[in-house]
Amino acid sequence: MKNRKIWKVHLTVFLFLTLTTLILLCSFSFIVSVRKISSNHALSLSEDMGEGGKTSWVPDHDNDVLGSKKFDFSFEFLSSERMVIAPDSHYPRAGDLGAYHTYEETVDILKDLNSSHAELVELVGIGLSYNNRTILAVRITNESSGLEGKFEILYTGAHHARELISTEIILYIMDYVVFNYGVNATITEILNNSVLCFIPMVNPDGVADYIEKGEPGWRKNSRPPYGVDINRNYAYQWGQAGSSDDESSDIYRGTAPFSEPETRAIRDFVLSHNFVIAVNYHSGAELVIYPWGYTRSLYPPPPDIGFFTEIGKTIESMTGYYCQQASYFYLASGTAIDWMYHNKSIIAFTIEAYCDKSTLLLPDFEAYIWDYFNPPEDLINTTCQRNLEAALYMANVAGEIRASEEKEAEKVWYKETSTIASIIGVIAVAVVIVTYFTPQRRAELKK
Ligand SMILES: [Zn+2]
Repeated sequence: MKNRKIWKVHLTVFLFLTLTTLILLCSFSFIVSVRKISSNHALSLSEDMGEGGKTSWVPDHDNDVLGSKKFDFSFEFLSSERMVIAPDSHYPRAGDLGAYHTYEETVDILKDLNSSHAELVELVGIGLSYNNRTILAVRITNESSGLEGKFEILYTGAHHARELISTEIILYIMDYVVFNYGVNATITEILNNSVLCFIPMVNPDGVADYIEKGEPGWRKNSRPPYGVDINRNYAYQWGQAGSSDDESSDIYRGTAPFSEPETRAIRDFVLSHNFVIAVNYHSGAELVIYPWGYTRSLYPPPPDIGFFTEIGKTIESMTGYYCQQASYFYLASGTAIDWMYHNKSIIAFTIEAYCDKSTLLLPDFEAYIWDYFNPPEDLINTTCQRNLEAALYMANVAGEIRASEEKEAEKVWYKETSTIASIIGVIAVAVVIVTYFTPQRRAELKK
């Protein structure tokens, strides 16, 4: 009988030590995994500046240090391949808008590209504008290898009518990838592994009804009486700061989220795809910006902030456009990037590709508004080329984003399992204590 009691005590001590060791190990792995995950948690903390409150300028690059060196998003674009960059694209440049392209001319270019390179180019109408013009999207990939397992990347231009250089950049990129497939190894690899989708002119009415008819300062769509700013009409945080309910304002957001056929077309197209990364080209500054646009009080949470800052900085190094969170440029709500990121977790950027600040000093600035937003004709190609490498880099990096996302998801799994194991350990030890070390039990053992 006594032997049995002693054996019981030994067993108890053994169990206790085992469980204590287990719990210590669990806690240790938990701490390690949390530390791995939260290396840039500081970025998601609120700066608490508020929309209307006093705002202090936070240079994003100080924060970027926290998120940097976390992901390897390098991109080798061999200098010999760089030489292949066409001095000019293959499009005619003497139409109704000179070297810039009208809506109809753009449609013709896309149709030509489709018919001349049917094995790479697919042309689809994704909806009608307010005045029933077709909004066209172009899908470019090696069609013969199918779409299965390929990464999807989205490029849009001319949300704003007067920023027509954005359409030219997209036309240039499309031309470049199509004519270099099978010639340039980087391009061939990109089109074998990815699907590049281009929407060169999100706002065909603004271009055709105003820009082409001698109103070079027109920004919005054609909804009477003064148009709606398409890039304030997306649903996420619609109606917040940086948009207006005044119909005559340049940032008039419309009567409701997605009230405009143009934003609905983009919405439906984006929802029916699985884009990893997107870039919306604009002009009026020289920046690469990422969500959020609606607030300065929040950053995207990790790991996404790491993607935005790492990729954004790489684009900055390739283009010379300064990278920062959109709201530090100015607050803007109901924008494409905020909605794309929030609703589909797309790593969505806006690239502000050009501005001529010298026109701002002119007393009759309004007369030079086109020149503010768009380079002179002989600099169109230079501006397009400036954006080429970054556009290709974004296509190339999509696979790496997906791989990093999976790795991050594994870390979260590790963290969660460690937490559960710790909890089980604590409960087990508590049970042992209660069962074998209560006074009653001790008395029993002494018998
Ligand atoms: Zn714009």
